[in-house]
Amino acid sequence: MTLTSDEILALPKVVLHDHLDGGLRPSTLIELAAAIGHELPSTDPDELGRIFAENANSGDLVRYLEAFAHTTAVMQTAENLTRVAREAVVDLAADGVVYAELRYAPEQHVAGGLSLQEVVEAVQSGIEEGVAEALEAGRAIRAAAILDAMRHLDRSVEIAQLAIANRGTCCVAFDIAGPEAGFRPSLHREAFQILREAHMPVTIHAGEADGAESVGEALGLGSARRLGHGVRIHEDIEGLDTDEPALGIIARHALDQQIPLECCPTSNVQTGAAPSVAEHPMHALRDLGFAVTVNTDNRLVSGVSMSSEFAALSEAGWTVEDLFEATLAAAWAAFLPYDERADLAELVIEGYGIDL
Ligand SMILES: [Zn+2]
Repeated sequence: MTLTSDEILALPKVVLHDHLDGGLRPSTLIELAAAIGHELPSTDPDELGRIFAENANSGDLVRYLEAFAHTTAVMQTAENLTRVAREAVVDLAADGVVYAELRYAPEQHVAGGLSLQEVVEAVQSGIEEGVAEALEAGRAIRAAAILDAMRHLDRSVEIAQLAIANRGTCCVAFDIAGPEAGFRPSLHREAFQILREAHMPVTIHAGEADGAESVGEALGLGSARRLGHGVRIHEDIEGLDTDEPALGIIARHALDQQIPLECCPTSNVQTGAAPSVAEHPMHALRDLGFAVTVNTDNRLVSGVSMSSEFAALSEAGWTVEDLFEATLAAAWAAFLPYDERADLAELVIEGYGIDL
């Protein structure tokens, strides 16, 4: 039985993988673009949202990525970064999210003259304002930021140092984003070495546009504690849908160490990492015991929310117990201090009313 939209909205949610530049409100993008004279495909919020979602569903990566040129164009001042971050937190809270990790690449926001540190501080101000605004509206949410380095560029050492310098206050982890195919974690060996020596948590986009070898590098060389998507880890499993699947070394490691997979159902279909939500490998991976979590990736660009992803999974046969398990896994996978993760897990358990 599928869940109703009210039932889904009421469930507490945890999102670990949500890009700040992929989740702007269409109305905000239009307003900020007008102020700097940046031309958009439409100045009608509904139509703009529709155009982005259509591009995302077109199967054409160039059309999919076009949206980010528009969003990052308006995210080049402290004021705009703060606003976008504030609205992201408020919107997530309104969708029933109780904990969010928002990620962004500071190096994408310095074209207007901001320093990397100023970018980080502007986003943090927005996150704090958003948390306060949501609370005023009766929605308690916690939110934190993950700093991304762009994997096809060469600033990862700098971003790793930035993440370490802002550890805890404005940044809970480091990630590499951008084109995965052709830009493996090993290109950023030095950054990962610095992060490892500083005990800085790392998550890595891997197993989305590239296969199990990329996942292997993320876990080995990158010491990733979580995998962004991680979906194509199934390529390291023979007979995934059979009674006796044979796991390769990489899949075995991810399962045994319960490395959380930050799955993003709709986005994974849009980028070709999964054939459809119904046939997404995350179902079989979950059944095998992998730590599967549910995420949005890009709310504006993919035309999704946590609730819409939950609804899509509900239609694909997920029960409320399944959604609970994925949310509990996400709570324990948060890059938060242990006691705060325990509190978050408690909140999730209460919210789903599940007897353990
Ligand atoms: Zn992503």
